[in-house]
Amino acid sequence: MSAPPPPIIKGWCPGALRPMQSGDGLVVRVRPHGGCLSRAQVAGLAELAQVHGNGLIDFSARANLQLRGITPEGHAAVLGGLNALGLLDPDPETESARNIMVTPFRQSSDGTIALARALETRLGHAVTHEGLRLPGKFGFSVDCAGSPVLRQASADIRLERTPSGALLLYPDGADKGRLVEDHEAAEQAVTLANWFVRSGGTCNGRGRMAAHVRRTPLPPGYDVAVPDFPPFVARPGPTPGGWMAGLAFGQCTAATLSALATMAPLRLTPWRMIVAEGLSAPPSLVDLLPADDPLLRVAACTGAPACPQALAPVRTLATDLAPHVPAHTFLHVSGCAKGCAHPQAAPLTLVAQPEGFALIRHGTTTDQPIACNLSAELLRTHPELMTKD
Ligand code: SF4
Repeated sequence: MSAPPPPIIKGWCPGALRPMQSGDGLVVRVRPHGGCLSRAQVAGLAELAQVHGNGLIDFSARANLQLRGITPEGHAAVLGGLNALGLLDPDPETESARNIMVTPFRQSSDGTIALARALETRLGHAVTHEGLRLPGKFGFSVDCAGSPVLRQASADIRLERTPSGALLLYPDGADKGRLVEDHEAAEQAVTLANWFVRSGGTCNGRGRMAAHVRRTPLPPGYDVAVPDFPPFVARPGPTPGGWMAGLAFGQCTAATLSALATMAPLRLTPWRMIVAEGLSAPPSLVDLLPADDPLLRVAACTGAPACPQALAPVRTLATDLAPHVPAHTFLHVSGCAKGCAHPQAAPLTLVAQPEGFALIRHGTTTDQPIACNLSAELLRTHPELMTKD
């Protein structure tokens, strides 16, 4: 058996000003301010996707939105459109640093939006006027609406409320943080980001906080225990922010986005779901998945042919296998070892290799498989192979 080719790790995320080339054209990632899009912005994005792209929109695991299949000739017009919608940063450095994930369950009274805005402003100033340069995947979470819900999502610096309502700032991966007042939270978060850089957290423009704090003592003042909370499990249905709806593989069409724009502003999540702000009943659109849909039990990346690194198509296989995934478990089907759709461990993982799929239980795409060379046809006809001992 030949070794699968190593995936290309780019170490940065696409943006609008710096799109990424994919097999189906340019991927233009849009980072909503405060994790929310107004109805006018949703309608404008739907139009840009339809006119200049292939009409497909991804909702990413970082609570961003991606327009797919943008043509090189259409990119300038997309930038103009994003600028008119208030969704364009002044330069690629500011755009790259503005990785701020915000809880979609915020209420107007919990201070979350003010914290997110202050952090965005302070971070932009640090990048533009103080020379702060963070790795492309470095990010922040503002998770301050009651119990945290973003702990399983990618972030390097986290802001949360303790059970008593105090504001806790801590580096991802650390078991200690520091209490901060709301008015100083943004400043302290940027100070922590500067500490990460100055204490050697970056290497060749890469590096993540969790790995850094495993080998580096925390700065002084980080001595308050990070409280335990049960892991948050996202499900479609009513939420404090509105109706949360699932999307198959986190993707929808421009037509769906356009229809949503007539109903409500959208809050983005890292769970391949969107929250239709203020709605107390599900938007009636065929693309939105009900809570019992088997597709909520699978994740699959873009795969072949749209991703040039993919060794196989994966979404049709994941769709066919979804009804056979037992309730309360989860299947990740990946087109290569990079594992874009679900970088974490999963109960069941199928990863494409040159000779077929490898099956991994309770691991990631790079863990030891328990079976290899499984063809898509074999998995379709014998889906029990995934779960039987
Ligand atoms: S995991 Fe999927 S989307 Fe990511 S690089 Fe591999 S094939 Fe492409």
